[in-house]
Amino acid sequence: MSVEVITLGCRLNMYESEVIRAKAREAGLENAVIVNTCAVTSEAVRQARQQIRRSRKENPGARIIVTGCAAQTETETFAQMPEVDQVLGNNDKLEARAYAFDVPTERVRVNDIMSVRETASHLIAGFEGKARAFVQVQNGCDHRCTFCIIPYGRGPSRSVPAGAVVDDVRRLVDQGVREVVLTGVDITAYGADLPGAPKLGRLVEQILTLVPGLARLRLSSLDVAECDERLIDLAVHEPRVMPHLHLSLQAGHDMILKRMKRRHTTAQAVAFCERLRALRPEIVFGADLIAGFPTESDEMFETTLGHVRDCGLTYLHVFPFSARERTPAARMPQLPGNVIKERAARLRAAGAEALTLHLASLKGREIELLVEQDLIARSPTYAPVKLSRAHGNGALVRALIVSADARFAYAEAA
Ligand code: SF4
Repeated sequence: MSVEVITLGCRLNMYESEVIRAKAREAGLENAVIVNTCAVTSEAVRQARQQIRRSRKENPGARIIVTGCAAQTETETFAQMPEVDQVLGNNDKLEARAYAFDVPTERVRVNDIMSVRETASHLIAGFEGKARAFVQVQNGCDHRCTFCIIPYGRGPSRSVPAGAVVDDVRRLVDQGVREVVLTGVDITAYGADLPGAPKLGRLVEQILTLVPGLARLRLSSLDVAECDERLIDLAVHEPRVMPHLHLSLQAGHDMILKRMKRRHTTAQAVAFCERLRALRPEIVFGADLIAGFPTESDEMFETTLGHVRDCGLTYLHVFPFSARERTPAARMPQLPGNVIKERAARLRAAGAEALTLHLASLKGREIELLVEQDLIARSPTYAPVKLSRAHGNGALVRALIVSADARFAYAEAA
């Protein structure tokens, strides 16, 4: 049996799973299942355990390897599972030697992630069958938001040198990839650890200049407090930078932002969205929002709901607050579970409403779409569009949007 890599969590994990696949192949690993886990919420860790049990049941003779942020932050939890043969840390998982032997020489290989200072670039062999490829530009985080476990799973912020990123993008474009998503943990911190401290805007500029064949560049989560002027300039004036920015807002009330140790205010977030929209009217924004952060009152929550409207957000990633061990927020007075659930549902409903409005606004427009899978494509604003006939995955097609509902815009190929 070959090697199956199961990815849980974020785009960075998806990128790293491609690296893991290549390293396992290089090491000659066979008959194994590698579960690349996430630790962002306790629910994510529960899903990791569930997936491991399922993989063992479905593959009784295979080697079960657990890695990713949950393996890094809760090593013992997984080392004690009878279903698990090996536990690898977030840095160890990217080395071929971790997969080298039929029987692992070390059952647990989890090094001190806080001691990692460099992020090597891995020239991945593309994303099998996918129209879009994720390219890692940064890893780790130097911030300490009070709710977040990620720095303990990913270590300090470290950047991939620009030359290596450009090589990665060029290689993917040469293989026919039309859209690249720059990913990391805190990409707006890009470059702070590199000579001359280049900013993310400078990196984007280099990619666009040195890889003229790249059709679409998309950015993953941005911290509005850390976006540099060159980045903003390219986001509003460069047609190849997709008019869709995902913001790590987390809340819409200043006192809650303060208790989260975030670096922006609600006024700054609203001003950021208004400024970019004034310069590029078709731009849309997504955001991460936490529902039910400790001490959040009804009034504070209503303000966060209003913030969705004030920023004109279109895509909401809603996270019901989940207390993570070792984080300051876990020691704050917690809200009842039903209140957290109810607020998450209201935020999701506001997100669904905003998406419906955006999809409807595309009607009558001819748009260039990237075909993802069969009849499903994405607009530059990341809107899901259903096509009237199939095109090859990865094709860029112009189409007229003729109708829309709550889930899709519907297009007829021009
Ligand atoms: S910026 Fe904050 S939320 Fe984001 S990874 Fe770092 S600590 Fe976590």
